[in-house]
Amino acid sequence: MDDVLIVGAGPVGLMLACELSLAGIRPIVLEKRAEPSELPKANGLGGQIIELLDHRGLLERFSEGSPFAGRAPGFPFGSVPLRFDGLDDIPLRLVLIQQPRMERLLAERAVELGVEIRRGCEVLSLDQDADGVTLGLANGTADGTADGTPDGTPDGTAEDNVRARYVVGCDGGHSLVRELAGIGFPGTTADYVLRLGHFKLDGVADPFKPLELAGLEPGWNRTPHGRVLLTSLQHDVLIAGVREKGDGARPQEGPVTLEDFRAAVRRVLGRDLPLGEPIWLSSTVVQARVAERYQAGRVFLAGDAAHLFPAGGSALNVGMTDAANLGWKLAATLHGRAPAGLLGTYEAERRPAAERTLVQTRAQAALDRLDDEDGAALRELLGEVFAYEQPARHLATLLHGSDVRYGSDPHPLVGHFVPDLALADGRRVAELMRQGRPVLLDLGGGADLDDRDRSWIDVIRTRADDAPADTLLIRPDGYVAWAGTPGLPEAISAWFTPSPA
Ligand SMILES: Cc1cc2nc3c(=O)[nH]c(=O)nc-3n(C[C@H](O)[C@H](O)[C@H](O)COP(=O)(O)OP(=O)(O)OC[C@H]3O[C@@H](n4cnc5c(N)ncnc54)[C@H](O)[C@@H]3O)c2cc1C
Repeated sequence: MDDVLIVGAGPVGLMLACELSLAGIRPIVLEKRAEPSELPKANGLGGQIIELLDHRGLLERFSEGSPFAGRAPGFPFGSVPLRFDGLDDIPLRLVLIQQPRMERLLAERAVELGVEIRRGCEVLSLDQDADGVTLGLANGTADGTADGTPDGTPDGTAEDNVRARYVVGCDGGHSLVRELAGIGFPGTTADYVLRLGHFKLDGVADPFKPLELAGLEPGWNRTPHGRVLLTSLQHDVLIAGVREKGDGARPQEGPVTLEDFRAAVRRVLGRDLPLGEPIWLSSTVVQARVAERYQAGRVFLAGDAAHLFPAGGSALNVGMTDAANLGWKLAATLHGRAPAGLLGTYEAERRPAAERTLVQTRAQAALDRLDDEDGAALRELLGEVFAYEQPARHLATLLHGSDVRYGSDPHPLVGHFVPDLALADGRRVAELMRQGRPVLLDLGGGADLDDRDRSWIDVIRTRADDAPADTLLIRPDGYVAWAGTPGLPEAISAWFTPSPA
């Protein structure tokens, strides 16, 4: 029996595979698409996940060639501009990177770490018992070599079985794993349809320069029937968005066609736009949902399978952080090194993080949705409020994901992501976390592990200016488990050592 089967080779499944592999577990990733996806979904990453990529030594790869990587200059919060001018210490960083490239980099890294990715391998059924989980795969796809249909997915009936001690559903918003595990997905669906398209159009301006085309304003152009956006993040590639309300706006079944897209533009703008040759077209109905549970027995959910947010920019931050949170806990459990209840902390920590993200993204969606004069007045007034330092800082923390704290230890650092201190030995804290192992960072406190086995932890003794505590116990996912107060043995028992039988 295998240890872990991950369903879905999107960014979250691949991130989880990397984390498990670093921790000495070799998961198998089952992906129904025969080839890596080229769908240009996310255009970037923002939030705490960027610090975690830095911990793993991946930030350079992700930032290479990016049109922007660094401290966020601002953010369109529900189409109200939020600026961080003069706030050099806000935590929110952004890396603009297209999702297919992100997935390529994560898949490369997973393979480097020894992960097996079986593409063309569709999960159709799931059964679990006390010892493990059995997945039924589409006929002939168990080894990931079945022929794909034209859309890249295999075609068949469940025949081949694979079995593992744990299964993680990273299979996206329509998650079959979630459904088969009997986990509800309550929430709401917006009453508008968003169509997006990328078009080849010679002469499209430089990324980030306002795009003056066809008499439209930069940003969303609102009309009584919806709104239209033209923008670009690449030379000669136009990105167009059309958002319209009502059932008449619902696309036909099947892929979006150019004619469908043009008709939506005409309904909203009352005229055609020079769009160019379509590279990719999509339609989305925006949803706001969080799974009732993140665990059902030996089955876990992460990423879009566990949450969908109604405003952009947060989904990957939350989803990939889920993966980092679950990875080390699953690995510790499989290595027999986990205290009782460790796996339960995954849901206890990550579900509230999704709930909190739902609050800020629902607020953004509400602000954005109000098309009338009242809405314009609300956005104008909030724009004035956001120009003050404290509201800007608060929103930056929410967007970053660091307003959520794990637990309620009296030390203010515990339960937060570790600060990236510059250490006297010339390293940064991030550089201690490359291998995804727990770290005991002794900054002069004489922390002692007694005669404990140290094979599972890195003990680093050095100094740091402005050290926030004498000693920090850092979890593999970068969160501080304990900070210099009495109780190191208890903290180690709570997070890292098996409970006595
Ligand atoms: C247009 C658009 C723009 C976006 N922009 C942003 C952005 O700027 N920032 C941001 O953070 N997020 C953005 N998002 C959201 C982001 O793309 C998703 O949050 C992200 O893809 C979720 O990753 P995931 O790995 O959880 O799921 P997915 O990326 O959906 O991956 C799931 C994988 O599971 C596979 N799968 C599904 N079912 C099965 C099965 N039964 N058997 C085997 N394999 C299966 C699928 O083929 C897929 O490869 C955007 C989304 C869209 C659509």
